[in-house]
Amino acid sequence: MSAIDEVKQRTDIVEVVSQYASLKKAGRNLTALCPFHSEKHPSFFVYPEQQSWHCFGACSTGGDVFSFVMRKEGIDFGEALRLLAQRAGVTLPSRTEREGEKEEREELYRINEAAALYFNNLLLNSPAAEKARSYVTSREFSPQTITDFQLGFSLDSWEALKQYLREKGHSEGTLLTAGLLIEAENGKTHDRFRGKLMFPIRDIKGRTIGFGARALDDSLPKYTNSPQTPTFDKSSNLYGIDLAAASIRRQDAAIIMEGYMDVITAHQNGVTNVVASMGTAVTETQVNILKRLSKNLMLALDADAAGEEAMLRGVGYENTLDAEVRVILLPKGKDPDDVIKEDVNIWQDLAARAVPIVDYTFNIVTSKLDLTTVKNQSLAVEKLGPIVIEIKDQVRKAHYIQELARLTKKDKRTIEAALSLIKPPPVRRRMPEPEPRAVTRALRQLVSSPLEADCLALLLQHPELEISREDLPPEYFINSENHEIFVNWQQVNDLSLLRERLDASLHEHLDSLMNKCLPSNNVEQRYIDYTRRLRERFLKNRAAKISEMLVLEAESENSDTDRTRLEEEGLEISVQLRDVDAHRNRKRPEMRR
Ligand SMILES: [Zn+2]
Repeated sequence: MSAIDEVKQRTDIVEVVSQYASLKKAGRNLTALCPFHSEKHPSFFVYPEQQSWHCFGACSTGGDVFSFVMRKEGIDFGEALRLLAQRAGVTLPSRTEREGEKEEREELYRINEAAALYFNNLLLNSPAAEKARSYVTSREFSPQTITDFQLGFSLDSWEALKQYLREKGHSEGTLLTAGLLIEAENGKTHDRFRGKLMFPIRDIKGRTIGFGARALDDSLPKYTNSPQTPTFDKSSNLYGIDLAAASIRRQDAAIIMEGYMDVITAHQNGVTNVVASMGTAVTETQVNILKRLSKNLMLALDADAAGEEAMLRGVGYENTLDAEVRVILLPKGKDPDDVIKEDVNIWQDLAARAVPIVDYTFNIVTSKLDLTTVKNQSLAVEKLGPIVIEIKDQVRKAHYIQELARLTKKDKRTIEAALSLIKPPPVRRRMPEPEPRAVTRALRQLVSSPLEADCLALLLQHPELEISREDLPPEYFINSENHEIFVNWQQVNDLSLLRERLDASLHEHLDSLMNKCLPSNNVEQRYIDYTRRLRERFLKNRAAKISEMLVLEAESENSDTDRTRLEEEGLEISVQLRDVDAHRNRKRPEMRR
């Protein structure tokens, strides 16, 4: 059981609230003058069965014990948890551990920062960096560019960086964790990067998280990266994102290139909405980072084999973005780097004429096939079919089915029949849900909400789903953990950023949502279904509370100023509930996009 659940189990909302308000019995529930706003007649209620509270007066809001304490004390979720844990005598064992993790990451940022400065200083001043400087000159990088990208040089030495950072007080173990040292078989450690041109890699916040390095002689591999570390994961970061983000937002377009050099040359020449993936394939996480800045994504990858494979993944990117991805076609044998250096206007022209990625993929596949033969026609369907069936946008899908029919000289029905036999690839492998541990002590029954959790898990596992406030307002999530995660998710729509924003005590809950096994089909329909059910639950709950309240009002001789308003609200809710009912078994005519 999570610490949060344990705190909930040992906390009674009635006891907590009674420290702030004087509660009086009202039927099955309790009522008080609202502790959040000033009033003469009580419109604040506590519901012991649901372990929740609600104010029917000016606040017109409610929640669970966490949201009560957060609001009353003006603190965030983590602080409320610690306060309640202390009160309930629950120790939060993971706290120091997680705080430790955070401190570790912060030390790693500092180490990388120090290393970047050190490398940069060597490139600018060290006699040993002559070769690196002449290489940088040959690439025509300006002093400003070298500063902006903090380019550097690592000495061809086994221990130079290690000694430098050890003197700054960092332990050998931490330097190993940072990926700056390598441990040899004999247990001795030495510098990972030696005699290389260094490219510090920064995250969107500008923190140095790792390094790329380029050999300055013929040694292979030409490029190496930092290994996976607590701060660096090359598949979920983009080179240049810190310098490109503002421009991507302003121009409402992002361009992904392949290498460090491409990005640096582009920025130096005023093409500043450019980043690089740090492997051959662009990952979904990377697309998600860009999606928050712009939905217009263009790829400018070399049209070699690796590039081609990346293109085939393009539809996946489109589904993540919920928009068309385009490809910038380069003249044969040229890198973006070459084109931009030659004439930035030619580059702008090519970018303006970028083609939809599916068109491009159709082109590269069919240009290699003689489509007059039946064998090749079948091969074309075999290669392009899996791409077409993945397209979510029904209009575009129909267009490409038509196109496939035209190319293979078959009628549309034949193509559709062939496509229906293709099995879509499995979506994502998920970890099985951990077995719930048996609760031994008889404590307060936890008020859980599988519906909230399912809906939230669906959102987190499908970042492409667009959440509208109208369909899914935060108050549908009564459980504070869910509420916290939902509100933050709406703001960032990115998992690693979400994790950073959340209090560490919520990470366990977040993980369980991420790993929740959900069916992988009909995502949008299920989203619609969940929001309808949450709405229904919300309205019913509210209607019940209002009628309960009205009964109480009728019994008391208090003024009935609120009565009319409550009755009106009750009426309005019953109208809305009828509306929910009407939608129950009816699919919307059009899927949300
Ligand atoms: Zn109130």
